[in-house]
Amino acid sequence: MAQHVIQAGVLASVVLVLAAGCGSGTPTGPTATTPLPLLRETATMRVYAEPGDQVDTDWQESYNTWALAQLGLQPPRKVEYRKYVSRDAMGRYTGNFNTNGFAEPADWRFHTIWPRDNHEIVHVYTALFGRPSDFFNEGIAVAFQTDPAAGVFTARFNGQDVHEACRASLSAGQLPLPLAGYVTTTPFRNIQDQVLSYRYAGSFVRFLIEQQGLPAVVEFFRQAGGRDESLAVIRTRTQSVFGRSLEDLEAAWLAMLRR
Ligand SMILES: [Zn+2]
Repeated sequence: MAQHVIQAGVLASVVLVLAAGCGSGTPTGPTATTPLPLLRETATMRVYAEPGDQVDTDWQESYNTWALAQLGLQPPRKVEYRKYVSRDAMGRYTGNFNTNGFAEPADWRFHTIWPRDNHEIVHVYTALFGRPSDFFNEGIAVAFQTDPAAGVFTARFNGQDVHEACRASLSAGQLPLPLAGYVTTTPFRNIQDQVLSYRYAGSFVRFLIEQQGLPAVVEFFRQAGGRDESLAVIRTRTQSVFGRSLEDLEAAWLAMLRR
């Protein structure tokens, strides 16, 4: 989700929204009787929106160009950017009323209420490599929440740099630790504060990218065991891909945050 447009006054509802974010809600049937119209086609997208609604396609193209270059991807097709005026409108068209956005990577499609997206589209792109647990899957999407058009290449979530946010949580004793207790999907999703959990995953994956390199992180995704992969599977792959244990990487990440 493109959190940079969220105002402080709606933070409480944002937390609830994130809880059901990224396709983890319980969709009902769509009620719209006509398909969402095609607004325009760009170099990397087919943009759908209702008449009068808009998408910041110039910003989005600059983001997509940056993300694709980072990931070393030549996309096999254009991604469908489906923009809605509200969560209710998204629900009418998709049957999913409980989120600000969700991705359907198999169909090269994502749905959002935001005119800029630097999260759901990352799910579409990284699905080409593989699908790890939600901790790592959300982590890479958050780690890619940059703003290339503004020259900002650090990751921000809900308006805050993910490392700075985790540094504050750590010093307040609020960071869920140890990491091994949260890297699988169910305990990650059970963290009550979803803004914290997304920043947590985003900071750790960003750290992996910064310290181990994006090619190694991509390899970690290529060997992923699916959304429900076990802690044992994650541990084995961490050791084989990064050459370090999960605890070793956790200690290095926490040391970085404490500096
Ligand atoms: Zn997501």
